[in-house]
Amino acid sequence: MLVDVAVPLPLYRTFTYAVPDTDASRARPGMRAVVPFRNRREIGVIVGEGHEQNGISPKPVAGLPDTDPVIVPSLLSLCAWMAEYYAVPLGVAIRGALPGALASHEAPEPVRRTRRVAVLRRELPSLLHRDRTFARAPQQRALFELIESLGGRVPVEHLTSRLNFSASVLKGVVARGVITVEEEVVARDPFAWRPAPSPVAHRPSPAQREAIDRLTAAQGGEVFLLHGVTGSGKTLVYIELLRRVVLERGRGAIVLVPEIALTPQTVDRFRAVFGESIAVLHSALSDGERYDEWLALKEGRKRIAVGARSAIFAPIANLGAIVVDEEHESSYKQGESPRYHAREVAIVRARAEGAVVVLGSATPSVESWVNATKEGKYMLLTLPERVGQARLPTIDVVDRREPRGAAMQDPATRDWLRMVLSEPLESALSDRLQKKEQSILLLNRRGYAAFVQCSSCGYVAACPNCSISLTYHRTPERLVCHYCRHAEAPATLCPKCAGAVLRQRGLGTQQVERLLAERYPSARIARMDVDTTSGKWAHAEILDRVASGDVDILLGTQMIAKGLDFPNVTLVGVVDADVGINLPDFRASERCFQLLSQVAGRAGRGPKGGRVLIQTRVPAHHAVTRAVAHDYEGFVREELAGRVTPAYPPTVRLANVVFSGTTEAATAKLATDATIWLHALLRKRPMPGIAIVGPAPCPVERIKNRWRWHVLIKAEHPAELTRLSQYFVQRFAPPKDSTKLRVTLDRDPVALL
Ligand code: ADP
Ligand code: ZN
Repeated sequence: MLVDVAVPLPLYRTFTYAVPDTDASRARPGMRAVVPFRNRREIGVIVGEGHEQNGISPKPVAGLPDTDPVIVPSLLSLCAWMAEYYAVPLGVAIRGALPGALASHEAPEPVRRTRRVAVLRRELPSLLHRDRTFARAPQQRALFELIESLGGRVPVEHLTSRLNFSASVLKGVVARGVITVEEEVVARDPFAWRPAPSPVAHRPSPAQREAIDRLTAAQGGEVFLLHGVTGSGKTLVYIELLRRVVLERGRGAIVLVPEIALTPQTVDRFRAVFGESIAVLHSALSDGERYDEWLALKEGRKRIAVGARSAIFAPIANLGAIVVDEEHESSYKQGESPRYHAREVAIVRARAEGAVVVLGSATPSVESWVNATKEGKYMLLTLPERVGQARLPTIDVVDRREPRGAAMQDPATRDWLRMVLSEPLESALSDRLQKKEQSILLLNRRGYAAFVQCSSCGYVAACPNCSISLTYHRTPERLVCHYCRHAEAPATLCPKCAGAVLRQRGLGTQQVERLLAERYPSARIARMDVDTTSGKWAHAEILDRVASGDVDILLGTQMIAKGLDFPNVTLVGVVDADVGINLPDFRASERCFQLLSQVAGRAGRGPKGGRVLIQTRVPAHHAVTRAVAHDYEGFVREELAGRVTPAYPPTVRLANVVFSGTTEAATAKLATDATIWLHALLRKRPMPGIAIVGPAPCPVERIKNRWRWHVLIKAEHPAELTRLSQYFVQRFAPPKDSTKLRVTLDRDPVALL
C-alpha cells in the first residue's frame, strides 16, 4: 500500500512511501508517519493515497506511531487552505496546527490521575419537581442548581473546598438520586493554582440582549463583527453565546484572546461559568501540559478551548462557535512560517464546520470594518455604550510642542521629570494618589527606527511616494524611505515652521519608573514591559496586584492596554503618543489610534468615572483627534481615504517578501535579483492589478546579525496574489553560499518593520 506524506520541510511537494499491508489500517489520512528522508528521519503526516512514480519503488515508512489520526479530515483541509493561501508547504502548515509534543517520535504519554466528580443524573424540569424533591432542604437544592448551572459535572473538591458545601449536603443530594459521585480521569490542570473565580451574573443590557439574540439565531458559517466600546460588556455576550452553543446544544467552541497572561480577567470569567469544560491553552504550558489539554479536547472531555492564536487549531469536534476577542490585535498573526492570521483561519474553519464567528473589538481593524460595512461579508453588531453606570472617560490632549529654541537647552539643565510628565499630568497623578485612586501610565515602546521631529510644530518628514515617515540614518546623515528607498538630507530647520528639528531620543520604562519613584516616594509603582516577564506568570501576578489595590501607578508599554477591567483606575496618561504614529509602517496611525482608544478604555470603568491625558506634539493628527472624540467611524473614514493613493490594504492585498543574509551586499543583491525576476515574470505572464514596490532595506535593517531587505507585492485581486506568491516561492531559490541567504513571504502582513 502506498501513502502520500507531507513532511515539515521547506519543500513544496509531498512524498510517496510504502506501508506493509498488515499496517494498512493504521495508515489513514491524518496519521503520523515516521519516514526516511535523505539519511534522516522525519515525522510527516499521511495526507492521502500515494502513487508510484516513473517506476521508482517508494521507500517503506519507518513507523506509524499513532492508533488514531492526530488530525481529522476537516483540519487537514484547513491546513491545505493555509498552504495554498500563505504559500507554505503543506507539511509546514500541518506542523503549525499540531501541538509541539507530536513533533517527537514517541507518542506522548498524557499524565493522568483520578478524582471524584458530582454528576447530574436526573433533570428536574419544573419548579414543582424541585419543591417536592427538596422540600425541607434548601441547601441541597442550591447545590443541585449550582451543579446544573455548571453544566452538570463538577469536581467534588470544587464544591466542598471552594464553594463551601459540606459533605453531608452532597450526601443528601446523592441520596435523593438526582446526583451521583463518580471517579473520573483528569489531566494536570495548569490553571489549578489560580483561585477559582466565582461567576457574576449580570442582566444583559438591551444592546447586549440584541447581540446575544442575533448570535444565537445565526446560521453556521456566519461571521459577526461585534463593535462594542471599551467597557460595553462584550465578554458577557461571548459567554451567553457559548452557554447556548455548548451547554444547550452540546457543541464545542473556541475563544481566542491576544495573550492569556495579559488577559487573566477575561479567561477567569469564562472559567467561572464553564469551569471544567474549558481547556486553557497558553504559552507557559510545557509541551506535555499542552498535549494533555489537546487530548482532553480531542476526546471530548473538554469542549471549549481558550487560547492565543494557535488555539484556532484545537481538535474540537462539532464546533459551534469561534470567538476572536480584540480581533484587531496584531498578535493574531504568526511571525514565523506558517505566517497565518488566526482571524482569517477562524473564518475559513467556521465556514467549513458550520460554526458561528464573533470578531469583537472596540477598535476593529480597518479590514474587518470594511468587510462588515462595505463588503457585506460580516454582519455588524454594535454595543454603543458602557454598561451600568460607567461612562466613557473624558480625554484631553496635552500639547507638548515647545516654543522655538526651548529644545536647544543644555541637556545637563533639562528637567527630566518634566520631559516625561507635563504639569497637567503630574498634578492629575498627585490628585489620584491623594484620593487613593489608581493610575495607568502608558509609555509607548520606542520605535525601532529613529525619526526626526520638529519640537515646535511636531512636523515629521514623510516619503513623497509612500506617505510613510522617513527614518533617520546617522552615517551618512540621511532620511530614508524603507518602502521605496527614496532618500533626502535631513533639514536642520523645519520646512513648515522653521523651528529646530530634533532627533527623538526617548526614555525607557526603567528610567521613567525611577523618575516617578523619586517624585512620588510613597507611591506603590508597578512596571510591566518585556523585561518584567521573567516568571511564567509575572504579568498575571502584576495584574492581580493592581486588581487587589496593591498598586497605585501601573507603568507599562502597549501590553497594559489590553482588556483590563479595574474599576478603581480613574486616570490614564499617555506619555508620548507620537512614537507610535511615526513608525515607518502604513498601519502606524491605525495601531496608534487603537492603542490610544484601548488604553483610554481602562479609565473610568467604575462609578468614580475617569480621565485620560494624552501628551503629543501632533495634536491635530487624526489618530489623536478621533481617539479623543471616541470617534471610531470618523477615524476609519480618514484612514481609508489615506490608503487609496498610494494604495495599501484594504484597497489592495499585500505580501511582504523579506530577504535576509549575513552580509549586507549579498542581501541587497538577492533582493534586487528577486525584483528583476518578478518584473521579468510579469512581463512574460501579465497579471492584472499587480504592482511591485522596492526593493529597500527593511525598517529594522538587522535582526540577530542578519541583514534584511524587502519587496512589497500589491495586488488588486486576492487570487492573483495567491498565484504569484505560489509561483515565486516555488521557483525563486536564493543561491546557496556562505552568507546564508533566506527568503520569506508574509501574506497580509500586520507590520512591515
Ligand atoms: P469590554 O470587554 O466590552 O471592554 P467587559 O466585558 O470587560 O467589557 O465588561 C466590563 C465590565 O462590565 C465587567 O466588569 C463586567 O462584569 C461588567 N458587565 C458586563 N455586562 C454587564 C451588565 N449587563 N450589567 C452590569 N455590568 C456588566
Ligand atoms: Zn517611499
